[in-house]
Amino acid sequence: MGTTVIQAFLVVDASLADVHLFQQMLAEPGAQGITLLHVTSMREAEAYLAGHAVDLIVLDLGLPDVQGLGAVRRAYAAAPHIPLVVLTGVEDESLAIHALQEGAQDYLIKGHIETRGLLRALRYAVERKILEEALFVEQERAQVTLNSIGDAVACTDSAGTISFLNRAAETLTGWSSHDATGLDMAQVLRIVDATSRTTIPNPMERAVVQNETLHSQAQWILLRRDGSEIPIEDSVAPIHDRRGRATGAVIVFRDVSVARTLALQLTYSAEHDFLTGLPNRVLLNDRVRTAIAFAQRHQKKVAVLFLDLDGFKHINDSLGHAMGDKLLQSVAQRLVQCIRGADTVSRQGGDEFIVLLAEVEHVDDTAIMVQRLLQAIATAHSIDNHNLLVTTSIGVSVYPDDGLDAETLIKNAATAMYQAKAHGRQCYQFFKPAMNIRAVERQAIEERLQRAVAQQEFTLHYQPTINLQTGAITSAEALIRWTHATRGTLAPADFIPIAEDCGLIVPIGKWVLREACRQAQAWVQAGLPTPTIAVNISALEFRDDAFLAGVLDILTETGLDPHMLELELTERVLMQDVEATIATLKRLRAHGVQVAVDDFGTGYSSLSYLSTFPIDILKIDQSFVQQISSAPQAATIVTAIISMGRSLKLRLVAEGVETPAALAFLQAHHCDEAQGYYFSRPVPPQQFAQLLEHGLVATVLHRLLNPGG
Ligand code: C2E
Ligand code: CA
Ligand code: CA
Repeated sequence: MGTTVIQAFLVVDASLADVHLFQQMLAEPGAQGITLLHVTSMREAEAYLAGHAVDLIVLDLGLPDVQGLGAVRRAYAAAPHIPLVVLTGVEDESLAIHALQEGAQDYLIKGHIETRGLLRALRYAVERKILEEALFVEQERAQVTLNSIGDAVACTDSAGTISFLNRAAETLTGWSSHDATGLDMAQVLRIVDATSRTTIPNPMERAVVQNETLHSQAQWILLRRDGSEIPIEDSVAPIHDRRGRATGAVIVFRDVSVARTLALQLTYSAEHDFLTGLPNRVLLNDRVRTAIAFAQRHQKKVAVLFLDLDGFKHINDSLGHAMGDKLLQSVAQRLVQCIRGADTVSRQGGDEFIVLLAEVEHVDDTAIMVQRLLQAIATAHSIDNHNLLVTTSIGVSVYPDDGLDAETLIKNAATAMYQAKAHGRQCYQFFKPAMNIRAVERQAIEERLQRAVAQQEFTLHYQPTINLQTGAITSAEALIRWTHATRGTLAPADFIPIAEDCGLIVPIGKWVLREACRQAQAWVQAGLPTPTIAVNISALEFRDDAFLAGVLDILTETGLDPHMLELELTERVLMQDVEATIATLKRLRAHGVQVAVDDFGTGYSSLSYLSTFPIDILKIDQSFVQQISSAPQAATIVTAIISMGRSLKLRLVAEGVETPAALAFLQAHHCDEAQGYYFSRPVPPQQFAQLLEHGLVATVLHRLLNPGG
């Protein structure tokens, strides 16, 4: 502050003697260049200050128009930013001290003034004023800043008494800064722990005592003046004086209700399925773990039920995704209605749900629950004026029998579910360890199958069908065999379903068709009495866009007469996409290819429905034929199929004839043809060629041609 320069000062003094003294002093060395202005009353001073700037005012407290502190106040009002030095007599020193409190910077005592003292007093007065101004501006700036920031700020002294609340703090606490000032901090900032509801020990006290900045860790709640609550987050810092002692504290806190709600929402959506609102796999895993821990302590069991809707894809495709979504929501609701409070229903995605049954006493209880769930879902779902029917397959795994952790339990329940699916709709299966072995085996087969296609590890065996009146061989059914490098010969049941699942059935099927046609044509050319050659076609092959062209190509390529080819399709394949099926069948038949319905009776088509399909042959499923003698119901079905097939003018073939009794029954009911071990097992081509050359074994032929004999 050494640069402080006084250029002009105003002396307000009625005594010309005083003024004269000042003038003399200013003439001395070190004081030159300072202009002294002089007025004799407050009125004059006010008038002058209204139009002029001075660096300092020297004010006599005994003016004619105002005296004492009144003079100080008026001078301050007229020029609040100009430093003020008052002049008093010796006997008025206490007055001078009051004057300092009213805003004067210093005082001079008449008769005790000398030049250096005067100049120093004047300079100090100016410096002090500048500092005061700066401090004021600083405080103003701090106040404005504090009021404009979003965070709430409260200040206390070292005793924890509130000295300031900024505007945000006023809003948050419900206290005005004015009301709060002077109150104990614990009264204004009442903070409790969100979960325990215990009062948080005054954070400011702790900051002051520990002398470091503290941040709230737990979830704190501020109790406002009106009793309402706001979740907050805060930090408290001690305020230090120049010697480093804590003289108070500043607490900064903010309303985190939005942030906390958002956080809650985020955790919710991270743990729930958006479509159904059910817990998702993340939360489910958590619940399974909790249930396991509980079961462990209380010697109970936990069941994990893996549900997959049957044919949901079909519903989605035919009725649209919106409808599919509503159906899933409805299913979710049904499931939730079935369970108890401790249980959990979760959606895994798609049409898969998992139901967790916690605290299971007996596994038998689980079976009852599973039945209930199957029933609940199978009841019609009324959605947008539609009554939708859907069934589900359920796989069950039980802790601790089938797994000790959530992951294993869920995986095994899924495996059991696939097994249930394989048994048809609306079924359930409890997990069995053998299932896992099967799953592993399946994986291995799929990998080997890829190579088998390339390395041609397949062969065809042929099985004849016999005309029951003449004993002649009417067709040769090509049945695939896989010569597996390590496992030997595999039957189709071991790999065809896998090939169908992974799509490999298409190239495999094409190979079968080509090989069968080639073989038949070779027999024809060898001069053998070659029958129709029958080839089994899977759904995936038949649905392939290139299927029809592929068949015709192979016929051309091998030179086989199309009339000698018979394609076997199951009832299920026929019933999918009926119109497209009929169109393809018509074109095949237009070329002379014959069409057989395989495994007839196991599907769910009505018998009369068959008349709409362009087909030539009905192959009665072996399960009925084999029970002809033992189950009257099977016999009835076979009789019905025979008579209906006859009225539709279809050729009837009974599959799986193993016994003379079955043969006799079929003959008695005028079934046209039969196939089965009784006549011949499927045999390799060389053996089949001999069969073509020599006919059936004499004893069989005899029995055949002399029914009842
Ligand atoms: P399928 O078309 O019903 O074939 C008849 C199956 O019954 C054959 O089993 C045959 O060996 C067996 N069988 C015949 N007579 C009797 C009998 O008297 N008693 C018993 N117990 N069984 C008899 P295989 O060869 O194991 O074939 C099973 C199934 O695999 C076939 O059933 C067919 O659906 C499928 N398949 C076979 N080869 C192919 C193929 O090349 N392509 C396609 N897509 N499927 C094939
Ligand atoms: Ca067949
Ligand atoms: Ca069959």
